[in-house]
Amino acid sequence: MTKPLQQFASDNYAGVCPQAWSAMAEANRGHAAAYGEDVWTHRASDAFRALFETNCEVFFAFNGTAANALALAALCQSFHSVICSSVAHVETDECGAPEFFSNGSKLLVAAGENGKLTPQAVRALATGRSDIHFPKPSAVTITQATETGQVYSIAEIKALSAVCRELGLRLHMDGARFANACATLGCTPAELTWKAGVDVLCFGGTKNGMAVGEAILFFDPRLAEDFDYRCKQAGQLASKMRFLAAPWVGMLESGAWLFNAAHGNACAKRLEAQIADITGVAPLFPVEANAVFLSASPGVLEGLRQRGWRFYTFIGGGGRFMFAWDADPGRVDALAADIRELARIHPGG
Ligand SMILES: *Cc1c(COP(=O)(O)O)cnc(C)c1O
Repeated sequence: MTKPLQQFASDNYAGVCPQAWSAMAEANRGHAAAYGEDVWTHRASDAFRALFETNCEVFFAFNGTAANALALAALCQSFHSVICSSVAHVETDECGAPEFFSNGSKLLVAAGENGKLTPQAVRALATGRSDIHFPKPSAVTITQATETGQVYSIAEIKALSAVCRELGLRLHMDGARFANACATLGCTPAELTWKAGVDVLCFGGTKNGMAVGEAILFFDPRLAEDFDYRCKQAGQLASKMRFLAAPWVGMLESGAWLFNAAHGNACAKRLEAQIADITGVAPLFPVEANAVFLSASPGVLEGLRQRGWRFYTFIGGGGRFMFAWDADPGRVDALAADIRELARIHPGG
């Protein structure tokens, strides 16, 4: 079978990286205890505690929707609300799972700059109403890196968490691309989370190079009380847990989590650099992680599709290109060359 050409429509088009794969293969040697009582689950949890330099509570879920929804449910009662950006995955791409698993906690949507939440927006939503008729704000969720490929700086996170503390809100981070943010900022995972006031992190493994799996890290262990029951009830307790945990051991102990992300980021920068001088084509958002949202005329976007390129246009109408751990720089160059040619064929539309 010939290998299909790489597409950049999503970073989860990519396969499994060697470090995750070989840890799975090793975990597959013989039997192990079930439901997280195995050595791989302990080792992965310890690897997270070492990486984050703190004694956090660690849980494993099959995907990001479940991780986010269950983490937020742990921060809320049914009559509470959660503040998020209007483009947040929890709002636009989780089919109401956060509301469902929290038994009705409402998402309060803020229109942010470029999809980022600001302290002002949080304050406005959290203090606009305080009467009994409005769902009481209990948590804030931010996405790091954001759905539009930007990164919150440590200072921005600290400013958000300060408002959260002041108003009695918990701060959750959707880290489906947390590793990409760490690679961009060059700071430690601790600096980007609990040291900046984040209470709960959902750390994405799938887009980082695993087959499946996300980790939920509670930096305040009191928030993790009975979370294991919540996971089980939601169908998120893996009986063969070692296969959710082992790839994390491979990723964290080898450093693949970080260099995979750095590679995806570098490919996004590579595309950005190659299209910088093309008239009529530009990134819709600052390129700070592994995404490029291409603003281009309908002629260019349609031409790209005709040349076989796949991409989504669901945010802002631009073409979204996402670069995974194994993105081929040669394919990035081919994409840039097609964009250049099409922009010449379709000047101004
Ligand atoms: C991919 C993604 C998730 C997780 O999605 P699943 O398909 O449920 O694994 C969560 N948040 C963001 C921002 C994502 O991009």
